[in-house]
Amino acid sequence: MIPSGFEPETHSLEGCCSIQLSYGTVAVDRAVGWKMRKPDRACKDNDFLRNFASMKKLLYISVVAVAVGVAAVLLTPKERYVVMVSMDGFRWDYPALYSCPNVDAVAENGVWTDMYPSYPASTFPNHYAMATGLVPDHNGIVNNSFWNPETEDYYSMGGPNRHNPEYFLGEPIWLTAQRQGVKTGVVYWVGSDVAVQGQYPTYWKNYEEKPLLEYSARIDTVEAYLNLPKKDRPRLIMVYFDEPDHSGHGFGPESEQVGKAVALVDEQVGRLREAIARSKVGKRTDLILVSDHGMTEIDPRRCIHPSDWVRPEWYERLLAGTPTSIFTKPEFRDSVYNAFSKAPHVTVWRKEDIPLELNYGSSPRIGDIVVAPDLGWQIHDRHPRGPGGAHGYSPYDKDMQAIFRAEGPDFKKGKRVDSFRNVTLYPLVCHLLGIEPAPNDGDLEEVRGLLR
Ligand SMILES: [Zn+2]
Repeated sequence: MIPSGFEPETHSLEGCCSIQLSYGTVAVDRAVGWKMRKPDRACKDNDFLRNFASMKKLLYISVVAVAVGVAAVLLTPKERYVVMVSMDGFRWDYPALYSCPNVDAVAENGVWTDMYPSYPASTFPNHYAMATGLVPDHNGIVNNSFWNPETEDYYSMGGPNRHNPEYFLGEPIWLTAQRQGVKTGVVYWVGSDVAVQGQYPTYWKNYEEKPLLEYSARIDTVEAYLNLPKKDRPRLIMVYFDEPDHSGHGFGPESEQVGKAVALVDEQVGRLREAIARSKVGKRTDLILVSDHGMTEIDPRRCIHPSDWVRPEWYERLLAGTPTSIFTKPEFRDSVYNAFSKAPHVTVWRKEDIPLELNYGSSPRIGDIVVAPDLGWQIHDRHPRGPGGAHGYSPYDKDMQAIFRAEGPDFKKGKRVDSFRNVTLYPLVCHLLGIEPAPNDGDLEEVRGLLR
């Protein structure tokens, strides 16, 4: 590496600043581009002068070397920390409808937009989509509950096999990070209390352990993670709040109760911002606020009853919901399709004909006929829900859209950016942490405009 013409000079300063010299060599070689020359053996009389000239050159090299060395140290990015918060069911327009000064402060100090959920716009599919960068069709969690014909098993987010890792495909970001030596701390994010590929986050909380941590204790936990000794400290921290989804279901998206729930989570965002600012790594921490989906008004009178349209002998399984998934008997597939084609307020698809933009229909866990209710409608036989709120509809229905707010050293300031798909959060967070993402459905190009 060291050009031969400079060897004597290097020796002359050995022991003085060898690190700077090594930078200097690189600087000369690559940046300055001087041509190296062998010493001229024919001019011995001028040795002193030549040596003097060489010393001058060396002095120059050393100055350049020191400058380059200092610049290199200053420009080397310090390791980033990322704290990502999910506020379940926080619809894109809640900041305009309700008071949430802390969420607003993140936007003013950073970037903000409305984010597209993945289809269907429900909690489990979307939290796991954000964690893996894979749409529900690819991440295995195709709805909050579904039938798995391969294992002849019914999966439900509240059911006994909620923790069965066989359902959770892909690689959640906490595993991507850990594989690359980055510690992680996750409080209640969907999938984090499941042994996906036999592993958990470095630090995690079990959603089954009751009572659940109070909201304030979740933020205290995040603060404790941030203040661990460096060798134990997670660089990726994720935390989940189940409001304002809960109030949205119970009282509808435009209700006093949702306003209070928004205030509740907003208060915790405020506490979190203070905790980050107090921590040693505050200046190196990117904070991201997201939600999994929006919410729309429902009424029990806006309900389609499957038994009004199809006969039980036509199918093996019918999972009523948004969307409704039907595993038909092959000889009756057309009967089921034709019957639902006549039903009002729904769209029926053969699995292979689901519009491409929904990214839905390749998983064996999706029935061969899919029926989607129109926004605000539901498909139920027994107990239609409401009045109140619901989700699960198309990401392109504005009511289903989620929020994105982010601030920190990597984000622009006070800038509204273009909407993007929530699967892109995965490559975005990998980029911030400086780790290699696993294959995913996201695209970092969608969010280049929000990065500094
Ligand atoms: Zn949700």
